[in-house]
Amino acid sequence: TTAARDFVLRTAREHDVKFIRLWFTDILGKLKGFAITADDLEDALDRGVGFDGSAIDGFARHHESDMRAYPDPATFTLLPWRPRQNAVARMFCDIRQPRGQTFPGDPRQVLRRNLDRAAEMGFTYNVGAELEFFYLKNASAPELLDHDGYFDQLSSYPASDLRRETVLNLAEMGIPVKYSHHEGAPSQHEIDLEYTDALTMADNLMTAKLVIKELAQLQNVYATFMPKPISRVNGSGLHLHQSLFAGEANRFYDADDEQYLSMLGKQFIAGLIAHAPEITLVTNQWVNSYKRLIPGYEAPVYVSWTHVNRSDLIRVPSYERGEEASIRIEYRSPDPACNPYLAFSAMLAAGLKGIEEQYQVPAPVVGNVQEMSPQRRQSLGIRTLPSSLGEAINLAETSELLYEALGDHVFNSLIENKKLEWDEYRSEVTDYEVSRYLSTL
Ligand code: GLN
Ligand code: MG
Ligand code: MG
Ligand code: MG
Repeated sequence: TTAARDFVLRTAREHDVKFIRLWFTDILGKLKGFAITADDLEDALDRGVGFDGSAIDGFARHHESDMRAYPDPATFTLLPWRPRQNAVARMFCDIRQPRGQTFPGDPRQVLRRNLDRAAEMGFTYNVGAELEFFYLKNASAPELLDHDGYFDQLSSYPASDLRRETVLNLAEMGIPVKYSHHEGAPSQHEIDLEYTDALTMADNLMTAKLVIKELAQLQNVYATFMPKPISRVNGSGLHLHQSLFAGEANRFYDADDEQYLSMLGKQFIAGLIAHAPEITLVTNQWVNSYKRLIPGYEAPVYVSWTHVNRSDLIRVPSYERGEEASIRIEYRSPDPACNPYLAFSAMLAAGLKGIEEQYQVPAPVVGNVQEMSPQRRQSLGIRTLPSSLGEAINLAETSELLYEALGDHVFNSLIENKKLEWDEYRSEVTDYEVSRYLSTL
């Protein structure tokens, strides 16, 4: 709208903005962008900015390298850690092809398309996020900064100051943080972003990850979102709390249900449960992601749901009567190294499928699913998540749901890219094997 456009131009003038970073995300979830100067801002808002997309992983083949970035005025905000004189702002962009068609390789467009489908059904898809990560001494080895644990308060310098600075910077950027705390593993931390519509949340997560890394770097510390950087301690998850709203009403809420969870909410869970294995390639996209999804580290392994957290895949927290807005479905397999635009697209597609096809939700699991015998799990119909990237690729490759959610372009690029990664990994003889086998076999 012209109001949004004028707001951007006025704010840029008032805050002495000289550089505007135009941001977008590649298929594997890496934040990319380039800067224009304030002189070109008006033109960029009106006509988009051409750039060479061929350098961007998964984005373009050589014959289609011309792209246009259309900055989304709703995402204009200053980068608070940059100088205030000749200040820097950012805007997330929608990527189009030279003639104006949306570019199907742009994850933000993929999410928009899935959200449009939800809107046609009358829903806004809201997401809240628990972002876990490690602060390490540097990027070359997992050297710890502290040996504290879950919720510890005497947190060592500089981690607690870094968390504080991160929360303050995010607030200045219009990204509210609900909780922040030390997590279970040494040097592991968590920052929880207040729920909002899924497109904003995906942008917020991309932003939060950058801010965490930037502020760490300013203190000569390295922040990593690698899912399992250290063996034998917890890995880092990205628990995602989802709800469908219709206007102000949370459609997952039902005052008459014992757990205040509506039929629609149950069908959404059923959709996630039915399709979880085939969408895991998107929520957990790296070889290393599967080192996290093992028993004993608070990460899910089995496709189950519950009201009490015992490392199940899905949890519906319990509430007091009347807390309508709080009713939500927590999906616990994703890790912070996923592409949030694509992860939300796949999760939403799975949930909506459950609603459309009126899937029956299985009974919530009582007891610890990781301690049950395999026979017991089988009798309850509880399946497992893929245990390796290779298995995840096999399940994704034949998934119609995932194909539709991601679209032809992203689906094929992702599968192709992930097969290369898996084949490369498979051909490595690891240190583990050499030390375990060489002298004994
Ligand atoms: N770090 C755990 C994971 O991998 C989660 C820990 C928690 O928040 N309960 O998902
Ligand atoms: Mg948490
Ligand atoms: Mg946590
Ligand atoms: Mg959680």
